[in-house]
This record gives sequence, C-alpha cells and structure tokens, in this order.
Amino acid sequence: MNFGYHEDCLDHQTGYRHPESPDRLRAIRRSLSRKHGVEYVAADPAPESAVTAVHDAGYVSAIKEFCEEGGGDWDDDTVAVEATWDAALAAAGQAMWAAERALAGDDGRDTPFALGRPPGHHAVEADAMGFCFVNNAAVAARAAIDDGDADRVAILDWDVHHGNGIHDIFYDTGDVYYASIHEDGLYPGSGDIDETGEGEGEGTTLNVPLLPGCGDADYCAAIDDFVGPEFVAFDPDLILVSAGFDAHRHDPISRMRVSTEGYGAMTTRMRDVADEADAGLGFVLEGGYGLDTLAESVTMVHEVFDGREPVEPDEEVKDRATKVFADLRDQGFGEK
Ligand SMILES: [Zn+2]
Repeated sequence: MNFGYHEDCLDHQTGYRHPESPDRLRAIRRSLSRKHGVEYVAADPAPESAVTAVHDAGYVSAIKEFCEEGGGDWDDDTVAVEATWDAALAAAGQAMWAAERALAGDDGRDTPFALGRPPGHHAVEADAMGFCFVNNAAVAARAAIDDGDADRVAILDWDVHHGNGIHDIFYDTGDVYYASIHEDGLYPGSGDIDETGEGEGEGTTLNVPLLPGCGDADYCAAIDDFVGPEFVAFDPDLILVSAGFDAHRHDPISRMRVSTEGYGAMTTRMRDVADEADAGLGFVLEGGYGLDTLAESVTMVHEVFDGREPVEPDEEVKDRATKVFADLRDQGFGEK
C-alpha cells in the first residue's frame, strides 16, 4: 500500500498514559518496516478552507487560538499542545491525499492509507471531542465532492466507537453515505438504528450498533448483508474506510472480539464492494489503542493488498447480532 504519513502528526503530545499517543504511529511504522511493498508519501497539510468546509469557522478560530496559547485540556480526554493544530491539519491533509489517489485510480498494491493523528471521526462541526479536532474523513469526502472529483462518497467507519462527527456532518446530506459498525453503549453513546438521515440525507446513514462480544463473523456479516449492498446501490465514486482498530479482541478499551485476521477479512470485503461499485477505495486511520494489535491490524490491511488471503471467520453469527440485523431490515436496509 501507499501510506500518507507526515512527521507533524508525531508532535501532537497528549501526555503521560494517554491512549492516543504518538507511539501509535511509531508502532505501525515499525511493523510495516518488516513488509514488502510499503511506500510512504508526506502529503501537504489540509488548507484551512478545506477544514472550514465541514467545521464552523468560529470553532476553527477558537481551537487554533487554544493551541497557539499552548493548549491544555479542551475536555476531559481531548488534550492539545501548541503543535496540535498543525498535526490536525497534517492528518486531514493525509486523508485528502488518500481520497485524491483513490479517485485517480490507485488501487491494488497502490491503495492509499492515511496514517494521521489526531484521529477525526468524533470531531463535530463546532467542537473537538473524543481525542479528535478535525474530522479527517469528513474533510476528505467534502473536498472530493467540492473539487468536482466525486459526485458521491461512501464512508464505512469500523472503529469500535460511533463516529458521531461524520454522522452529524453528513446527516442531512444526500451525497455522502455514512455507515458505522460500533459497540452499542460505548462512547459517545450515539448511533442508533433508527437514525437514518434526514431531508436530502434520508436513508444515507446506516448505524450498526453491535452488542459487546461480537467478532469477525458478525462484522463480516454486517458488511456482506448491509454495508456492501447499501454502498453498491448508492453508487459512490469513492469509498473511504474510517479505519479504527479498537474493536480488536486485545484492544484495552472495548469488549469486541475482532481478530487481526478478521480485519483482513473485512478488508477483502471492502475491496470487493469498491470493485462492484466501480469506486476508488482509501483508508483513513481512526482509533486503536493496543500498540501491538493496532500495528498488526494495519499491517494485515497492507498484506491483503499485497496478495494475502486472510482466513475466513469460521464461527456462526451470534444471536445478539442477528437481532440487530433484523431491526436493520425493518428499517429498509440491506439487499434491495
Ligand atoms: Zn475508537
């Protein structure tokens, strides 16, 4: 794969024992250094105009000023230092690069993956939250459409947390389809099945809130039965995966049971969905807080595009997932 990576993303320091640390990127790069076919690109930071296309201008001024004055605790878990704003622009810029390359036709071994931090999917229009300042995937999707490179963009967010920021930003927008598979009840508590979009965005928001304990078979079924058919019917030019790896069974902050191999199985599915939809495919890093499992899982995604065929899940879909899937069908989601 081709990885978007900018050194400025390391300078966002979150302090002692904060799970969202620069060591996350270091661990990923160390793991990838042992693999063939890894290329790095340092794409330009996002221009501020791309950020204000999805974020409130007053919020952008406030967070910039907050960083310029040295930062501090924006909220209980969202911490900034002086370098945070530049890191956030760099992370958003890598996401824009991934979208641009995917739309330009880079696929297979050249599939783009933006390795930025701070992550983005919790950042809402006018606030930072949940370790996120700029909504990287949302900025990339909006820019792809505003620049005329895409008519429609679909985003699958498989981070274990609901990406409330992307959800909100595109809730009433018909040209971006947001789908999230997340752990029900976990931070930030949003992402119910019956939140399906409104106005022009009606039917272009899909929330799959799985109960704790779900794993590879459940996640793969959610893609096979809902995300895949929904995205193909939406006919996007670009599919972005908001790729967090905190649903991993060894991640310290969730109770999900996805394995490293499971992320590979999910990756092959999204590659197939993109092929079927004739859409570009790019990845944007979100969460993932077990350094080893994060690094292994990103490396697994890379290896899938390098020819590896991951082991298919052999367990049954759990009853607790089947119930959620029945509720989704009642809402009209799934095979058309
Ligand atoms: Zn997360």
